Amino acid sequence: MERGAALVKTGIARPLAWVAGAVLDQLYPPVCLSCDAPLASADALCANCFRELRPITAPLCPVLGLPFTVSIGPEARSAEAIADPPPFERARAAVVYNDIARALVGRLKYGDRPELARFCARLMAQAGHELWDGDAVLVPVPLHRTRQFSRRYNQSNELARALGRLTGLRVAHGLVRRRKATRQQVGLSASARQRNVAGAFAANAEALARLNGRRLILVDDVVTTGSTVRAVTHALKSAGAGRVDVVSFARVVIGTDA
Ligand SMILES: [Zn+2]
Repeated sequence: MERGAALVKTGIARPLAWVAGAVLDQLYPPVCLSCDAPLASADALCANCFRELRPITAPLCPVLGLPFTVSIGPEARSAEAIADPPPFERARAAVVYNDIARALVGRLKYGDRPELARFCARLMAQAGHELWDGDAVLVPVPLHRTRQFSRRYNQSNELARALGRLTGLRVAHGLVRRRKATRQQVGLSASARQRNVAGAFAANAEALARLNGRRLILVDDVVTTGSTVRAVTHALKSAGAGRVDVVSFARVVIGTDA
């Protein structure tokens, strides 16, 4: 559940989570977060699954975070960023959305392995290192509440909370909400995705005003075409937000070996 517009200071639950984790390790020996193979340490993938992850590293487009095959200079933007400039400033993603990333995100969404959010957040903390300075605030991309209810929790909230603990940034809940239940984006074309999410989000102007123009960092599990994070950014900016950045666990990279 969203908790009004309050800024929730993260980190309070850490000792409790640690104790709970230690107890669970005794009850259930750790297994790979993807394939369930037994592991020597908790909270990670087995070596085979880890090798399948494709981290997104420099050189990359400074705007969209898309990887370049060769370095073309620090200011050079991707063709996609030039053709269709996004309303946000910078987007960063930890890994390419391939089969293993899809499996991890699937488990994250359905909440059967809550420790997965910590694993994904550690990779996101590295990928988004340029975004963490200053007094930015993490903003989870909201699910519609009927969908959130059926899944018990919003995976973006879990990622934002874990990322907040790693970066020391606060998580702002209730800044933006979904005002209609959009169709699942899977299987829709880019233009259909854009229509699907247009007007889907509403931002809370009063809550935004209380942040006094602090930079916002949207947190999502997967960026596909970017239509959702663009729509959320538009909603926040039309309600008075200033700078907005985006961080996700995975993103679709066309032409990348899945
Ligand atoms: Zn595995």
